[in-house]
Amino acid sequence: MSKAISQVPYAINEPVRTYEPGSTEVKSLISTYKKMWKENTEIPMVIGGNEVKTKKQVTLYSPQDHQHSFGFYHKGTMEHVDKAIEAALAAKAQWSNLAWEQRASIFLKAADLIAGPYRDRLNAATMIGQSKNVYQAEIDSACELIDFLRFNVEFMTEMYSEQPISDHGIWNRAEYRPLEGFCFAVTPFNFTAISGNLPSCMAMMGNVVVWKPSDKQILSAKVIMDIFMEAGLPDGVINMIFTDGKDTAEKVLAHPDFAALHFTGSTQVFQGMWKMMGDNIHRYKTYPRIVGETGGKDFVMVHSSADVEAVATALVRGAFEYQGQKCSAASRAYIPKSLWKEVKKVMESQLKSIKMGSPEDPSNFVNAVIDKNSFEKCKGYIDRAKKAKDAKVILGGKCDDKKGWFVEPTVIEATDPYYESMCEEIFGPILSVYVYEDKNWSETLKIVDQTSPYSLTGSVFAQDRYAIDEAYKALENASGNFYINDKPTGAVVGQQPFGGARASGTNDKAGSKMNLLRWVSVRSIKETFVSPKDYKYPFLG
Ligand code: NAD
Repeated sequence: MSKAISQVPYAINEPVRTYEPGSTEVKSLISTYKKMWKENTEIPMVIGGNEVKTKKQVTLYSPQDHQHSFGFYHKGTMEHVDKAIEAALAAKAQWSNLAWEQRASIFLKAADLIAGPYRDRLNAATMIGQSKNVYQAEIDSACELIDFLRFNVEFMTEMYSEQPISDHGIWNRAEYRPLEGFCFAVTPFNFTAISGNLPSCMAMMGNVVVWKPSDKQILSAKVIMDIFMEAGLPDGVINMIFTDGKDTAEKVLAHPDFAALHFTGSTQVFQGMWKMMGDNIHRYKTYPRIVGETGGKDFVMVHSSADVEAVATALVRGAFEYQGQKCSAASRAYIPKSLWKEVKKVMESQLKSIKMGSPEDPSNFVNAVIDKNSFEKCKGYIDRAKKAKDAKVILGGKCDDKKGWFVEPTVIEATDPYYESMCEEIFGPILSVYVYEDKNWSETLKIVDQTSPYSLTGSVFAQDRYAIDEAYKALENASGNFYINDKPTGAVVGQQPFGGARASGTNDKAGSKMNLLRWVSVRSIKETFVSPKDYKYPFLG
């Protein structure tokens, strides 16, 4: 392969299937769902290419039916963490010396396996284990993961082609070396695509990885690992372990060969891990790369010139799709008094037609929240708002945990812009609204900027260009992804590189070259063709 300068297939975004009622694609997906629902899947860890089973088996229950177990996984101990690190380090020399085209082929094949034979299985696993409806599963586990894999291959080659200039008589080169040591990927429950991307993009750059998925996303993590193995990923390159998060972090982050953390999850967990890395800094052979994408409190700022129906639709989709369990979900909205009555009316009528229930019925727009903790957290915010002086529940508000963890799409109207639900990340189907006097638009922009420690996504809705420009400038640092007249969710790989700043993360933009750059350590190479043979420069005469 080193005898050619290969070009990779041009990446384009995977077309999203629409799953219209009665279509062949929806029938096929639902029949896979029904089959997997009954399979009682056994899920071992994968270390050094071997399936690892333990004596501790943990039953997995579906969020939409908490009495139904669809499988079980083998829980590992700290011994398995050690084994995963050893397996990664053992695989390192051969993997990092493999030509990039061979690495690229594996991940391009994985993308094609997801696009084709594994599509239904990965989507169905996400629907069963994480309670996503057909469309939410499709845009996440199929399309976004396919896009991550294909675009990252292209970004890798773009990066490799970036080379320094060379003066007369010399040849300068840049070599994008994998990091020394092993990498650690820790992934959240809410996006199957993120769980596949975090370990794979590090491996793509020639690194070896210990991957700890969330224990609330184990079924789809297993399908991803099956796909990587079928695509030909060599043993030990990615090692998937199911171990306690905190204990694993303590062990991994104290290892001298630890080279990088790729994390997505809550701010608090990331900050805890950063502290551990600080405490261990003297142990490491190399300064670790740290990438973390964390929480959000994403805003929708509406100007009096905005289109009412567009605002209401963005709020309904942005706040309630996937039950608000997107880091980018619209969770606080600022609406001018002159538009509020109309916006509320349109939202109310849209919400009336929304059905809630199991993803097995594709007509359900809203499904269950992930688990009991999340259910209780959401219920707590709703119950407190019902009693609060400075807030009231104006739409939704019912919670039902008889069969699954169902929380109705809920809108809280707060008269205090700093009421708790306007500031804190809830991660559920709860939208908080603050109605401001139209004349206070500029002051309200300041409130939007200063309300929360996060800075992930945000939208402005306006037809007035001066208003858009003012918001664009006033909210420069309030979000890493800024939307104009669109909802703050649904970033697409290659189109809107994703990530936030402040307490929302290191902003290394998943699905971009900026992210891949973190997983390499550049070596500059200078070669002189005719070396000088006398120390004297001309100025010495
Ligand atoms: P989480 O922080 O609870 O868990 C994330 C991962 O960390 C899991 O694998 C978990 O097992 C592990 N973990 C938990 N406690 C740990 C500890 N003490 N030490 C080390 N690891 C630990 O997050 P979650 O509930 O899975 O996901 C929701 C959160 O993720 C939200 O805050 C959301 O905003 C954030 N998120 C952010 C983005 C982004 O791109 N910014 C994307 C998705 C999710």
